[in-house]
Amino acid sequence: MKLRIAIQKSGRLYEESVSLLKECGIDLRNVKDRLRTESDNFPLEVFFLRDDDIPQYVEDGVADIGIVGQNVLLEKNRDVETVEELGFGKCRLSIAVPRALNYEGIASLRGKRIATSYPFIVNAYLKQHNVSADIHEISGSVEIAPGIGLADVVADLVSSGSTLFMNGLKEVETILKSQAVLIKNKNSDKDDLLKKLLFRIRSVKKAKRTKYVLLNAPNDKLKEVIALLPGMKSPTVLPLAESGWSSVHSVLNEDEFWDKIEQLKAAGAQGILVVPIENMIL
Ligand code: ATP
Ligand code: ZN
Repeated sequence: MKLRIAIQKSGRLYEESVSLLKECGIDLRNVKDRLRTESDNFPLEVFFLRDDDIPQYVEDGVADIGIVGQNVLLEKNRDVETVEELGFGKCRLSIAVPRALNYEGIASLRGKRIATSYPFIVNAYLKQHNVSADIHEISGSVEIAPGIGLADVVADLVSSGSTLFMNGLKEVETILKSQAVLIKNKNSDKDDLLKKLLFRIRSVKKAKRTKYVLLNAPNDKLKEVIALLPGMKSPTVLPLAESGWSSVHSVLNEDEFWDKIEQLKAAGAQGILVVPIENMIL
């Protein structure tokens, strides 16, 4: 029995979906074919699809699981279950208007023509705010619609905002924040395999947020240095060849990382080495 996963065939989620599997220790055969492939070291079969089709394939059970953006998942409104947020493909679906437009809140959208690839989400958003407007569905290059007179405003995916800026638009409302998620078919009978895969995904995610730190400290400063380190249990302390010095090894979290390094230096730590962690099994 194999777990069948649907991932994007090409585009913004492709690279990171494939590397996530790789980081989970799953080798894929002939990824270049980009239609279907499988792994020799994990019971996994991979289908490469357009992201828009992934929720339906998973709902229908053609694939057991899939990787897709929350934006697409909401738009397609399929009956599938989200099992894990994956932390990549981050973007937001926003309303953007021509820079010259005097925007005074959502009411300013009343009666406007809104170009978007997300009619379902935008419609629900407008309804929720009691605003009626004209939604024009376009499948790509939404940001040029106002410039060519096809629409007054847009609802489009944004990450840095530079595309909007280059097209003379300003972002005025965020409709939703999105990232890639792992979804599953609600009736799948492959929960054991999924559990195995999820265990790996979670340890990869955890490892990405942490660093392995090695440093040297004079023994009389050891107490202060160790007090700064959380470690998984407690830091490892080894004597150095030079007497009066020790080597200290520990694990640090991304969010406290730079602060801790400063504090460690101030406490007398030297020769601080920071090493990425590939996997973290807790
Ligand atoms: P497909 O050919 O598979 O239909 P697509 O053109 O619809 O591809 P992409 O542009 O490759 O889609 O984007 C895939 C997903 O990547 C988006 O649905 C979204 O979840 C995510 N994403 C992250 N950042 C951005 C961004 N700046 N612009 C668009 N999508 C982004
Ligand atoms: Zn798409």
